Formats: sequence, C-alpha cells, structure tokens
Amino acid sequence: MIEIRNLSKSYGLFTALKNIDLRLDQGLTHVFLGSSGSGKSTLLKMISGLEKPDNGSLVISGKNQIESSQKKISSEIGYVLQDACLFPHLNCLQNIILPAKISKWSSDKISNRVHELREIMQLPEKLLTKYPQELSGGQRQRIALMRSLLLNPPIILLDEPLGALDPIVRADLQKDLKQVFNLLNKTVIIVTHDINEAAFFGHTISLFHEGQLIQHGNFESFMKNPANEFVTRFMNAQKPSAELLNYL
Ligand code: ADP
Ligand code: MG
Repeated sequence: MIEIRNLSKSYGLFTALKNIDLRLDQGLTHVFLGSSGSGKSTLLKMISGLEKPDNGSLVISGKNQIESSQKKISSEIGYVLQDACLFPHLNCLQNIILPAKISKWSSDKISNRVHELREIMQLPEKLLTKYPQELSGGQRQRIALMRSLLLNPPIILLDEPLGALDPIVRADLQKDLKQVFNLLNKTVIIVTHDINEAAFFGHTISLFHEGQLIQHGNFESFMKNPANEFVTRFMNAQKPSAELLNYL
C-alpha cells in the first residue's frame, strides 16, 4: 500500500503539487493521468525517493519513504522512463545487470535472474549482446523494464514508457506489459496522458491538473461520474478507441 497524505511540492514560487491525498493498493496497476505539466512525473519522483516533498507524508508498506535511504528505496522500487535511459557504452546485458552488480550479487544469482526475466519478457538471447543504439524503441523499453525488474522490487514506476513509440509497437508492448504485470503481481504506477492507455492498464486512475488531484477511481467512474467540468472536458478531448467503447 502506498499512502500519500497532504503532499505538496513547490519549485521556487511555482506549486508543482498541491495537497495530494492518495492511497494506492498493493498488487494493482495504477495510472497517473493528466496533461503535460500537471505534476505526474513530480509525484512519481517523490514516490521513488529521487525528490523530497515540502510537506506531507508518504508511507510505503508501512514505512516512511521520506526518511528511507535512497539505496534501500532503489531495491524496493523499479523505475522506467520514457526514453529508456540505457547507458550507451554498455551492452543490453550489462545495462540489465547493473543494479545487481551494485548490490554485489554473485554471478550465478545474476545469470539465473536474467534467464528468468528473459523468459517472462520473451526476449531473444542474442539481443542481450547488442548495444542500446542498435535496438528499436520498443526493444529498448523491454530492456529498461528488465533492468527495473532485476532486483524483484514489489513496486514498479513507469513514466510515459510508451510515449515515444509508434502505434503498432506501442500496442504490442502494452499487451505484453499488462501480461507481465498480472503475472508478477506487482504494484505498478504508469504515467500517461492518453485515456485509452489509462483505461487499458488502470485498475485505478488518478487525474491531475495544475498540480492537483482532480479525481481518483476506476475508468467507469470517470465516464459515469466525472467529478467536475474539467474531467468531462479532459475525457471528451481524446477520442476513445473502438475497443474501449466496446468495453463500456
Ligand atoms: P508532467 O509529468 O505532468 O508533465 P511534471 O511533474 O514534470 O509534469 O511538472 C509539473 C510542473 O512542475 C511543470 O510546470 C514543470 O515545469 C515544473 N517542474 C518540474 N520539475 C521542476 C524543477 N526541478 N524545477 C522547476 N520546475 C519544475
Ligand atoms: Mg512527465
């Protein structure tokens, strides 16, 4: 369980997050939805411990996140960014195993875990000796996801992981990611501005606007009981896919 209470963050005079209250259950996939600049990535950074809030509390599995060390948090939370952020001078395998090297795992333990993850991600072995720049965008994101899963953290944060991909690759990776999340029973938070993606992944959706949490619930509640005029406008501004309309 991730419990965020009355959390605020400002950069100088600019308020990036204002009095956020949110509880996210374990083992589910949660979506942070909102336009660019609404505060989604800032909240993800707070959860990951990369940045500290000005006010409020952040408790993860009963532990105060704000007081935990970054090293401890890194073993409990996997983080994937939009552009994969792989090291260009390391091949894919070296990129993937970096967290295990830092945690001083034995080479046996590392190779067992890589094998396990390669099966889960259905990634051909020959890809692992390639360098990031030799891969497609979708393949790079799969490698970044493998790296985030390596230490088997209970929580995975993904900041617009599919944002830079073309529609077909994106649809394929969406399906695969959903399967992996269900299989592994992780608590996942995905950031997106796309309502179709939010509906596809989200057991819950949190909609942000100008640093405030406007509505939290499942997709159906957004469609049937929008909290205010802004929610209606946001939902209507993007065309729901045929698949989504079918589902409703
Ligand atoms: P989103 O991910 O929803 O697009 P962000 O959380 O990245 O939005 O940013 C929210 C707002 O906070 C933006 O207006 C952004 O410019 C501002 N912001 C984020 N990080 C910083 C920072 N380190 N310094 C100053 N302003 C920042
Ligand atoms: Mg962002």
